[in-house]
Amino acid sequence: MNHLLRCPVCGETFPDHGELACPDGHHGLLRAIYPEKQLTIRDEPGIFRYADWLPVQQVPRTQSGPVTFRSLEFAKEVGLSNLWIGFTGYAPHRSAFVPTCSFKELEAWPTVQRQKETGGGTLVVASAGNTGRAFAEVAGTMNQQVLLVVPKRGLERIWTSAPAENVTLIAVDGDYSDAIAVADRICELPGYIPEGGAKNVARRDGMGTVFLDAAVTIGSIPDHYVQGVGSGTGAIAAWEAALRLIADGRFGERLPRLHLAQNLPFIPLVSAWQARRREIIPEIDMPHAEEAIRAVNADVLTNRKPPYTVPGGLFDALSACGGQMYGITNAAAESAGLLFEKTEGIDPDPAAAVACAALLAAVDRGEIGEDACVLLNITGGGYKAVLEKYQVVPVETIRPGEVPACILEKSHV
Ligand SMILES: *Cc1c(COP(=O)(O)O)cnc(C)c1O
Ligand SMILES: [Zn+2]
Repeated sequence: MNHLLRCPVCGETFPDHGELACPDGHHGLLRAIYPEKQLTIRDEPGIFRYADWLPVQQVPRTQSGPVTFRSLEFAKEVGLSNLWIGFTGYAPHRSAFVPTCSFKELEAWPTVQRQKETGGGTLVVASAGNTGRAFAEVAGTMNQQVLLVVPKRGLERIWTSAPAENVTLIAVDGDYSDAIAVADRICELPGYIPEGGAKNVARRDGMGTVFLDAAVTIGSIPDHYVQGVGSGTGAIAAWEAALRLIADGRFGERLPRLHLAQNLPFIPLVSAWQARRREIIPEIDMPHAEEAIRAVNADVLTNRKPPYTVPGGLFDALSACGGQMYGITNAAAESAGLLFEKTEGIDPDPAAAVACAALLAAVDRGEIGEDACVLLNITGGGYKAVLEKYQVVPVETIRPGEVPACILEKSHV
């Protein structure tokens, strides 16, 4: 039996033909409904161990997947007795082999597979960097055409572990929002399919495997979940994974509390949630956005249009789980990241360093008790180790003369 999709607004379920929204036009995040209520772990080397709860029929082979391990040294520094690390990146000493070094690769694998199964076409991806790198890597292995739109500032992050294939890379002036605008226009062309971001169930359930892997390794749903967030999609995914684990029956009955962090001074989600407001009001929650975004070290956490208000989105996740949001300075993130690297031997992505600092803040404020079971999502890292193993290759942008006329017209590149 195949999985179905359910609209959170009208409650209708229907077969998956690659939809990103309810056929009746309702505004809400569709959710995948899997026939297997109990999770059976498959004999696969990476993410597709959890294919029962991924919206795909076929399973490509990859070593890329999340790993979970218990922290001893970092935990001691933080003052916790039961701290677990969910890690996606490259760290051979932890059996972690994700060459693009972030959990965006967990989104890319099932998204590309679902795209192939539900109609094909060229997948269009707008990215600040990490998502683009992940899709560039997977496009080559999966023989799937991908068109990436990236702000010039993010270009240096677009590399692959082997020369890129099937990838067209377009660089645009401006920030992530400008890349999204260009990608949206290109998607008006026939044959160009938007990957959909948080609206794509494959992206969310791919990220959700971090939480599944943790619960399976620990033996239960953790009490607390800590992550650095830009769109909040990873946190929505953790909530949805926890709901499935509760329905499974073997992992406990309680949702985790969410402790989510953004990088000061750009903290729209922190600001809106602290006011317990479902709407983000730009003047209040992200004043001087452009300047604030430029001042942030972890710029993958700077999303101006996060899926926060939408039914099934981050406001609902925080409301269901209970939770706390943290604004973290560059300095606090940097020192927490160094502490993590010194104790665990993995260089965290700047966004994961923000999560490390949030964990310290949560313990400090008494939001997390010292014996609680805590999952810290280290959403990316291992860049140093990957460079020892691979000769990474930058993906080349197409020259203006090579941009197909139809795209040129749409994108103003
Ligand atoms: C994208 C990203 C995040 C933020 O994830 P969201 O789902 O957008 O909130 C955190 N860490 C890393 C390394 C990322 O690439
Ligand atoms: Zn609907």
